[in-house]
Amino acid sequence: MRCQMCRSEDTKVIDSRSAEEGRAIRRRRECIECGHRFTTHERATYQPLVLKRDGRLDPFSADKVRAGIEQALADRAVPPGTVEDLVTQTESLFSAENAVVPASQIGDTVLAGLRAVDEVAYLRFASVYKDFSGASDFEREMAAMEVVSPPYGGKVPPAPAGG
Ligand SMILES: [Zn+2]
Repeated sequence: MRCQMCRSEDTKVIDSRSAEEGRAIRRRRECIECGHRFTTHERATYQPLVLKRDGRLDPFSADKVRAGIEQALADRAVPPGTVEDLVTQTESLFSAENAVVPASQIGDTVLAGLRAVDEVAYLRFASVYKDFSGASDFEREMAAMEVVSPPYGGKVPPAPAGG
């Protein structure tokens, strides 16, 4: 997307919102060269659909994804633009050739992105998204993330004397 002021092609998305009930995306862009900001509307010629676990199809909602990410990142200090980056990543899973994307793929994309920036946010999102059935699932996920340190500082404990 070319900058309207300096014609540079180096622009980045700083905000994106669903419009027209998810059929269009309104994007705020900023020119990296001159800092000029402008808005674009991208209209899908297809309806992006999410294949849910129960087999139903739902229209993709970037706003819903954003809400989930914002909830996970509440009161966490992360680099600016993190939310939009992740929303954009999920949007880019869709294309005219690939209009139906499984919900799990969208969730995994968000999880991978959150994991890279903030472990607490990752776990918050995972606990909602993965439909953890209980504390044991949550703890297993926690344990998987911790660096496992061997007991006794890695040394084999002395055998009891006289045995
Ligand atoms: Zn420019």
